[in-house]
Amino acid sequence: MRYKSCYWIESGINFDRDAYKVCCLYSAKGGGNTIVKDNYKGEPVDWDEFFSFKKQMKDIHKSGKVYPKCDGCIFLEERDWPDDHTKISMINLDYWTKCNSRCSYCHTMADKDAYNRFKNYNFLPILKDMIKRDILRPNGHVSFGGGEVTLLKEFDKLLHIFMEAGFPLTRIHSSCIKYSRAIEKGLKNGRVDLIVSVDAGSKQMHEEVKQVKSYDKVWKNLKRYASHQKDPFAVKVKYILIPGVNDSKEEIELWLKKAKDNGINCVLHEIESKWFYARRENVPDNIIEFFNFAKEKAESLGLKYELYERAEHMMKFKSEKKGAN
Ligand code: SF4
Ligand code: SF4
Repeated sequence: MRYKSCYWIESGINFDRDAYKVCCLYSAKGGGNTIVKDNYKGEPVDWDEFFSFKKQMKDIHKSGKVYPKCDGCIFLEERDWPDDHTKISMINLDYWTKCNSRCSYCHTMADKDAYNRFKNYNFLPILKDMIKRDILRPNGHVSFGGGEVTLLKEFDKLLHIFMEAGFPLTRIHSSCIKYSRAIEKGLKNGRVDLIVSVDAGSKQMHEEVKQVKSYDKVWKNLKRYASHQKDPFAVKVKYILIPGVNDSKEEIELWLKKAKDNGINCVLHEIESKWFYARRENVPDNIIEFFNFAKEKAESLGLKYELYERAEHMMKFKSEKKGAN
């Protein structure tokens, strides 16, 4: 049947620190972040309840309306969606918070020690249950976010299982402070793409944003990962623009040069969350110009330039507003 929906509504799940949700995205005008079960600590998932929740969302969309939290989301797409309510093909994992970085914009900075001590539940039994029940669709997509993935005890095993289960691509977000052979292996066989948020060009700015001295180590590890990538665009370096902190053209130019010099071919540009959520529909023109500047510079160096999720919403809201005026 043809209607407006997204891959997360149709077949996604997000395992968060204390909840499972439809997706992990907050950028839509409606706020996203649709929680299905709160106060979750890794108990067996009630799949009947989960799929029935999704069916209710789909029914709203089939009736021509949009689930309120999904209002304005760039991932909504009108097309023929398969009539299948009981399969999962998109998994986002961010159920742990331990991290070796201290990014100034991270929600864990509210109480870093507590977040670093937090004992996460294990996802391995849940994944095995999903495989046993045959609810994982091959050709799916997995994404690891959370704290630092290389500090997650079950990470290597999980990555191996996803690759064995036929998931073609696993997206991994890492601080890149610790090198992982499991990630290297995934890059070598073209089954992993890696996103590292560097957020600076200079060492000084990197330390200001990251609040740990890791600039040289991160670029060294990035270069090593990039030297193993089968897909030339698999290793991606991100820059989260924090207005008033790292919004300098010199920093951007240096970031792009570092990427190029270290064998990276793809850069991602994002806007800082708290700043964006406070101004979602009133982003000043100079910020948009800044993104346009970065795109032009990146492309002049032969780098693939992509907007990340919030920035993509920001550009969409801005162009809709321009169109309405
Ligand atoms: S917020 Fe966006 S990505 Fe998430 S379920 Fe809604 S439409 Fe899909
Ligand atoms: S790397 Fe991620 S989890 Fe760690 S402090 Fe930075 S934003 Fe937070």
